[in-house]
Amino acid sequence: MGKSLPVFNFDQLGQKLGLLKSQVTSFSTASAPNDGRTVDDFKPYLVALNLTKRCNLKCEHCYLDATTKAGGGSDELSTEECFRLIDQIAEVNKGCLLVITGGEPLVRPDILDIARHAVSLGFMVVFGTNGMLINDKLAKELVEIGVMGMGISIDSLDPQTHNAFRGVPGAWEAAVAGIEACKRNGLQFQVHFSAQPMNYKELPDVIDWAHELGARVLNVFFMVCTGRGEELTDISPEQYEEVLSFLIDSQDKYQDMLVRARCAPHFKRLAYEKDPNSPITKAQGYMGGGCLAGTNYARVTPNGDLTPCPYMPLSAGNIRDTSFVDLWEKSEVFDSFRYPHLKGKCGDCEYSEICGGCRARPYVDHGDHMDEDEWCLYTPKGGEKIQVAFNTQEETSIEWDSAAETRLNRIPYFLRAMVKKGVERHASENNIPIITIELMEELRQKRFGNEKPVFKF
Ligand code: SF4
Ligand code: SF4
Repeated sequence: MGKSLPVFNFDQLGQKLGLLKSQVTSFSTASAPNDGRTVDDFKPYLVALNLTKRCNLKCEHCYLDATTKAGGGSDELSTEECFRLIDQIAEVNKGCLLVITGGEPLVRPDILDIARHAVSLGFMVVFGTNGMLINDKLAKELVEIGVMGMGISIDSLDPQTHNAFRGVPGAWEAAVAGIEACKRNGLQFQVHFSAQPMNYKELPDVIDWAHELGARVLNVFFMVCTGRGEELTDISPEQYEEVLSFLIDSQDKYQDMLVRARCAPHFKRLAYEKDPNSPITKAQGYMGGGCLAGTNYARVTPNGDLTPCPYMPLSAGNIRDTSFVDLWEKSEVFDSFRYPHLKGKCGDCEYSEICGGCRARPYVDHGDHMDEDEWCLYTPKGGEKIQVAFNTQEETSIEWDSAAETRLNRIPYFLRAMVKKGVERHASENNIPIITIELMEELRQKRFGNEKPVFKF
C-alpha cells in the first residue's frame, strides 16, 4: 500500500489553509441543495475501519516507529468505542461492507469481538491483512463468527522481493500459509496486489497464480504517493494505462474471479472505451472499480477520525466527538465529494460522471482535491457527459418466491443487483413466471459448476 498520510482535522486544516477551507465550504453549501439529490442518495457501501497502527511487519515505506507498531499508540479507539461506532454505521446502512484493517488488524487483541459485534448487526465483514497470523484455529473462528473473507496482500511471487519490501524474512511464506489455512477452513480470500515500479510487470503471473489458488477476487491497488521527485514511487501514467487495460482484458479471461483496479478510477474510462456495455462498465459500487470516496465510501482512523477514503487525509471530524451519522450526513468535506466542482481536464471530461479521477492524488500533490488527476493520460474531447444507466431498475412482472428471495438477500448487496438482473433476464427469456430456489440452484450450477462462487449464492 502507499505511504500513509497524517490526517488533518478539517477545521484545524482550515485555519492553516484558510483559502482551501473557504473554497471547499463555498462550493459545498452553494451546490448541494440545488442539484436535486439529498443525503439519502449517498449511503455508505464500504467503510474501512483502520482500527490499529499495531503491526508485525517492518515495511520500508511505513512511517510508524517501532513503539507505535508494537503498542498501537495510546489514542486508539477502545473496544466499546468500536462497538458504538459500528452501531452508528448501522443506523445509516447495515448492508454495507465493513473492511477491518490496520496496521495489522489481527494483532489487536479484541479484534474478533469487534468483528463478532459487526456480524451480529448484519454487516458483511472482511479483513484487510498481511495474512501472516492466520492459522487453522483462527480461520475456523473467523468462519464461525461469520466473517465473509480475508483480503491478503501479496506484492510479488518472488518471496525475497515480497519479504524485502515487507521488511521481515518469511513474510511471504507466512502470508501464503495464511491463504492455505483460509482454504482448508472454507474462508473466502482475496489477493491484494499493490502495483509498484518494482512489481507491476509481474501482474499477469500474479493473476494466474491467484486464480489457480482459488482467490475469488483480485484487487490491484494503485498507490497514492505524497508527491513527485524524490518521493515518487508510483508507476507512471503510461504504465497505469498499460496495467488498467490489461486488467480489463483479464476480467474476460478469468470470469470466475473478480478482477478490479482500486484507486485508479480511469479504469472506468478505459473499460468504456473498450466496450460501453461491458459488465465492468455497467458495474457500480464495490464491483464497479471507480472511486466511491465520500459518496459511498469512508474510512475511520485508529483514533476515530472520519475521512472520505484511506488516502484522503481530510477529516470530517472525530467519531469521539460527533456520531458517525452526523459526520456522514452533514460534513462539508463529504459534501465536497458528493457535489464536486471538478477542475482542469477532469472538469471538462465527458467521462467525469463515471470516472471523475482520483481526488486524493491532486490533494497530496498540491492541496486541491478538486483538481485534475494528472495520472490519467486522457485528453477530454468536450462532448456530452457519458452516463451509464446502472441505477435504473428494469420493470419486470417476474416474481420471487419467499425462499428464493431469502437466498437472494444473503448475497452481498454489491453482487445482489447483478444476480437479480441475470436471474430475472433468464426467467423472462424462458417464460418462467416465478423464480424459485431450484431455478437459482440450476443457474448457479450452470455458472459455477462444482466451483464455489465468489460469495455465497
Ligand atoms: S480519492 Fe483516490 S485514493 Fe481515495 S478512494 Fe478515490 S481513487 Fe482511491
Ligand atoms: S480526465 Fe479525469 S475524469 Fe476524464 S478520464 Fe481522466 S481522470 Fe477520468
